Amino acid sequence: MSRIILSILLVVLLSPGFVSAQVKVRVFADRKPSGVSLLADKGRFELDIYDGTPTVVEPGDLVVFAMYGDRIAVKLKNSVSFTVDSLIVRGLGVNDLFFLRVNGTPGERRHYSGSLKCYADLGVMVLINLCDQEEYVAGVVRTEGGPGRRIEYLKSQALLARTYLYRHLDRHLIDGYNLCDHTHCQAFNGVTSDSLVLRAVKETRNQVILAADSTLIISAFHSNCGGETSTSDFVWLASHAYLKKVNDPFCQKSPNARWKKTIPLAEWESYLKRSGFQGPGKTPLSYNFVQDKRQNNYKAGSFPIPFNRIRNDFDLKSSFFSVTREGNSIILRGRGYGHGVGLCQEGAMVMAARGFLSDEIIKFYYSDVIITDVKNARPLKVIKTINSSD
Ligand SMILES: [Zn+2]
Ligand SMILES: [Zn+2]
Repeated sequence: MSRIILSILLVVLLSPGFVSAQVKVRVFADRKPSGVSLLADKGRFELDIYDGTPTVVEPGDLVVFAMYGDRIAVKLKNSVSFTVDSLIVRGLGVNDLFFLRVNGTPGERRHYSGSLKCYADLGVMVLINLCDQEEYVAGVVRTEGGPGRRIEYLKSQALLARTYLYRHLDRHLIDGYNLCDHTHCQAFNGVTSDSLVLRAVKETRNQVILAADSTLIISAFHSNCGGETSTSDFVWLASHAYLKKVNDPFCQKSPNARWKKTIPLAEWESYLKRSGFQGPGKTPLSYNFVQDKRQNNYKAGSFPIPFNRIRNDFDLKSSFFSVTREGNSIILRGRGYGHGVGLCQEGAMVMAARGFLSDEIIKFYYSDVIITDVKNARPLKVIKTINSSD
């Protein structure tokens, strides 16, 4: 038997010159819009169609596009209609704002800045927003940051969102844009006018979080760690020196610190059997398991099953829970919400309320990191190894 090991070395160059002012974000990426209305709000735009004369679009003007076979039908303010392969509504100034509404979401109108490109790809309408990077960061903080209103908390969120942006600029490059607006990348529901969020982004301008080797970190975060963050290898099988276990005294009284779920005993037993458990044998089994520190595996007798797998299968808030049998029920008593890796948002909110600065919050949750201008980031090397055997 021979083994062929094929190694592909892929070097993604992130030299100082990679910093550009704009980002291409696919918006409404989780929907399949059949039609979109664009309402120009501020600034001045040109409707740019290949080989055609640009049409001026001004505040108050409406442009409607819809799928038409595998092309895009466009309708303008003066009722002119035509079909195209692609079109760009191009912002001409520095403060061009427009609203977007997609079919099937009455009432939901999102605010965007910059330009919008629209084209059909295999029968699906693709909408790409070309927008200023810092406005994108502010939009992500507003969408992902939760209810925290302290400036130092929001600054910590801005550092995370910007670090993610630069680390993942190539995530959808093969698709012709940088990032999508869904949780696959970072949730982004358009720009924000929230003055506190805008201030947090401005006060951290160009700042990112680097590991000890000056590469951009994986800026993982979650809602609540339950009192102890998780190492990354517990969740993703890859360890990173800056994603260490941290005991968190700050989040324990927060809304997502505790949860409880009751499962009928018969359902629990049949789940364990489906997972490979042979049954309790002659001696009855309590199924009890205390997890007061994060552990990898639940054990029914000596049979192990990863807590992460149980979390996924039962759609639980976290994998940090204890199991108790009470009569014909199994009670899961859990702590925290989310994967537990990196920054704990509810803990960070409490730290900010107690006077900690954003740098201190970041350094509490990520070990040995540097907060600095993105121009100091080192190229990120991605090494992919494909093993195949015959
Ligand atoms: Zn994505
Ligand atoms: Zn926490």
